[in-house]
Amino acid sequence: MESKFTEAYQKISEDGHESECDKVARMLDLMIDGEASTEEQSYFNTHIEECIACFESHQKQKLLKGLVSGHLKRVIVPESLALSIKARIQVTV
Ligand SMILES: [Zn+2]
Repeated sequence: MESKFTEAYQKISEDGHESECDKVARMLDLMIDGEASTEEQSYFNTHIEECIACFESHQKQKLLKGLVSGHLKRVIVPESLALSIKARIQVTV
């Protein structure tokens, strides 16, 4: 059962859309830091308009940045989302 799951996952990775998401994921840090070029920004924005997964990861990164720099109080965030991000930090680190 486990190997079947891996096989299905690899099939998704070979899809053309996945590599676009990979590009966007690499741009994410630049976007968050405001260091992306104009071209990168427009590519990124176009992609996240169509891709919920990348849009959500962008939102989460922005929130994380806010948490780290202590500006969260000015951002209106559902508490459950903030908690899930905190949990994610603990898992990742
Ligand atoms: Zn995407």
